[in-house]
Amino acid sequence: MSGVPTADRRSRLAAAVGAAVLFATVGAILAATTPWNPLPGSVPGGPVSPDPSLDFSAAEIARSRAFDSAINPPAYAGLVAGLVAVLVLGLTPLGARLIRWTTAPARRRVPRIALAAVVLTTVLRLAGLPFDIWSESVLRRYGLSTQTWPEWLVDQLKSLALSWVIYSLVLLLLYGLLRRFPRYWWTGAAAGAFVLVVGISFLYPLAIEPVFNKFHSLPAGKLRTDLLAMAERDGVPVEDVLVADASRRTTALNAYVSGFGSTRRIVVYDTLLKSPPARIESIVAHELGHAKNDDVLHGTLIGGLGVAAAVCLLHLLVTSPRLLRRAGIEPAPDDQGAGGPADPRSIALVLALVTAATQLGTPVQNLISRRIEARADAHALDLTRDPSTFVSMQHELSGRNISDLRPDALERLLWMSHPAGPERIAMAREWARIHRVKEPPPLNR
Ligand SMILES: [Zn+2]
Repeated sequence: MSGVPTADRRSRLAAAVGAAVLFATVGAILAATTPWNPLPGSVPGGPVSPDPSLDFSAAEIARSRAFDSAINPPAYAGLVAGLVAVLVLGLTPLGARLIRWTTAPARRRVPRIALAAVVLTTVLRLAGLPFDIWSESVLRRYGLSTQTWPEWLVDQLKSLALSWVIYSLVLLLLYGLLRRFPRYWWTGAAAGAFVLVVGISFLYPLAIEPVFNKFHSLPAGKLRTDLLAMAERDGVPVEDVLVADASRRTTALNAYVSGFGSTRRIVVYDTLLKSPPARIESIVAHELGHAKNDDVLHGTLIGGLGVAAAVCLLHLLVTSPRLLRRAGIEPAPDDQGAGGPADPRSIALVLALVTAATQLGTPVQNLISRRIEARADAHALDLTRDPSTFVSMQHELSGRNISDLRPDALERLLWMSHPAGPERIAMAREWARIHRVKEPPPLNR
């Protein structure tokens, strides 16, 4: 730290304390509020261990294995390629050089930052593209994708355009603060990031989802009446159940809750509507569990705190002379404002740090998410008291989505936001034993 002025050292210390306090707070809240044991009560006859062969035929298990080994190579290779690309750009002078070349025509700072955001997100998207095409062709081979290649490409372009807008706005705010308040920008940025996360989560159903899907109310009829009656019985105020036109993209089955407060909505994929009504009720009962526990709001607030903590940490990293030099940027700004963290050429370094932090956070997020999903399953079982229908729905979900029936440790860490189908089915059998309801018989007989 020699050569670093005392005032800078003080602001770095404050940021370190801020990050430590916020990360510790997030950790404590997660430890205290995560439903580690979603199914209270001891199970008569002992716990039920997941066993795919009980409910899935040999052919179903073989198909799941085959799909898993077809989809894993592009998934892992794409993950590695994306990480390598962003780390090479951010932790070598390559990214700074790329930004200098491509933003040279822009004289002013604002268009330079926006242009740098557009260039970097596009380059990173292109690095991942071959693997996404590979994945999509696997989905197609297994009948999971219903899109034509042009439709698929339009989706890619839409999400790229969305990332141009979001990254440009966020980076303009960030670099505006960085330049105006080089020592304490992170205090405002951490608070702003929290507000931004909450705002985006609130507006997500209104601003982002309609870019990709069309939604309509579940039409009047017995199913709608039954679902709203179940929500009423559950004490969860639901005014509407929305149907997404997911079938123009996939054959997979899904439902979810998004938004909170006045934007909260329960959405079912239109692909689900051909399933028997009792199974749809089972799915919606799970979603009501999320609504009742305010899982979206809860996750948003914790996510906002986590991002605020990461912003404090970002100050420490982005003012590190070693990292700046590594990224090809002189640590102290010169007379023209070149160099130092506020130089837009450091955007590549910032993206590398943000990507690394996000990737490190994923296994924790998945671990917590799986527990929250299990709690929503327990809620569905409590509400419907129908474990047999729950099991047949989970069987249908796993079959139609060709889910991994036996994920390995790495797959669980990286990809599994929900328990695997056989685990969810085993929990339904435990629920039946605890509540002395007829245990769902094996489906594979
Ligand atoms: Zn869920």
